[in-house]
Amino acid sequence: MLHVQHTADNCIKCNICNTVCPVSAVTDLFPGPKYEGPQGQRFRAGIDTGDSPDASLDYCSACGLCTQACPEGVMIAEINTVARTRLVEARGGLPLRDKLVSRPSLMGALARPVAPLANAVMGNRLARTVIEKVVGVHRDAAMPPFSGISFRSWARAHRRPPDPRRTVAYFHGCATEEFEPEVGAAVVRVLERNGAAVTFPPQNCCGLPLISNGDFDSARGYAARLTRRLAGSAIDPGVIVANSTSCGMTLKAKYRELLGLDDERTTEVSRAVYDVCEYLVELHDAGELDTRLGEIRARAVYHPPCQLMAHGIGTPALDLLALVPGLEVERSRAGCCGTAGTYGTKVEKYQIAMDVGRTLFEQVGEVRPEFVVCDSETCRWHIAKSTGLPVYHPVQVLDHAYELAGR
Ligand code: SF4
Ligand code: SF4
Ligand code: SF4
Repeated sequence: MLHVQHTADNCIKCNICNTVCPVSAVTDLFPGPKYEGPQGQRFRAGIDTGDSPDASLDYCSACGLCTQACPEGVMIAEINTVARTRLVEARGGLPLRDKLVSRPSLMGALARPVAPLANAVMGNRLARTVIEKVVGVHRDAAMPPFSGISFRSWARAHRRPPDPRRTVAYFHGCATEEFEPEVGAAVVRVLERNGAAVTFPPQNCCGLPLISNGDFDSARGYAARLTRRLAGSAIDPGVIVANSTSCGMTLKAKYRELLGLDDERTTEVSRAVYDVCEYLVELHDAGELDTRLGEIRARAVYHPPCQLMAHGIGTPALDLLALVPGLEVERSRAGCCGTAGTYGTKVEKYQIAMDVGRTLFEQVGEVRPEFVVCDSETCRWHIAKSTGLPVYHPVQVLDHAYELAGR
């Protein structure tokens, strides 16, 4: 049994987790974290009998807010994620839809050579209706446009500035590689502006969507390949930055907590990983961040992704955005934007994702910002689709402010 499952024993039934769960707040289909997590564990262990809560397990979005709130250290979201693997096994594996959405790197690589055509299909109402009926991806769910150019091809053509003062390895993840090379380019420019030589170790998808969807066996294959590829960078330069909160979290903790991987290589890699904003704030604290930033006279809402809380690093993006002259930033009041990775794309969960995100969407409607800022790619896509506003990674805002200040 994994450590996360043992934590169920700590539950004192205080109910705090139920007060923060964004899903049970908007639907009766999900009974809430206390019942599904620690109490459900008693059914799974054969201690309690009767109706198992596992029929509703699918509705947990794995946002992690319950785990963060529990005063007794019960890892409720993680208990649910492990329990989901048994459900998937009992159903004979993942359905086609979940297999597809769990492999963003494969989908991106297949679509890249025909990106304009693939984007036209994904933007066509009729095609999306057919996809919804056949595959189960909601017709209105946010889908990022496929990029005709990969991030790594941008990186190959990029010329490094001379005389770096430090070296960092960059884990760009598959979303940057396939859908948002411009985010990766901004990360590289900002790191270089601050004296770093950026290396691009060979890498692959971290496997988080497979973990979240309940296919741990396939995820272990992804994890083993990735940690093998990143092992050298974990030793030298010893710093691996990730721009996606979820990529970073997977490498920092999820392989150990959920897949039970605690070998030396996985541990070394997890120790070397920094969220890019966390890394930049450390530079700032050491007096080594270039703070010559141009003025951006605008109002923005910053939404910290639910997974950021699990990093235990506060909200470094807010610290960085506060350095930009002229920029007014209001923090999101919502714990979760609703999409939680691939969750909100599924036909049976789309409305739940929209209802969960309503707090944020209404706040955006009140504040009327010029743009929204968020560290996580799937959240950015969901918020952009739901609000009609541009949504940037915090480092893209910094990059723009540096550009305004003159390179
Ligand atoms: S917050 Fe923690 S201790 Fe309280 S009911 Fe939930 S799992 Fe149990
Ligand atoms: S992970 Fe999120 S959706 Fe799942 S039980 Fe916890 S708070 Fe609710
Ligand atoms: S968390 Fe990062 S690497 Fe993992 S699937 Fe998502 S984008 Fe890809």
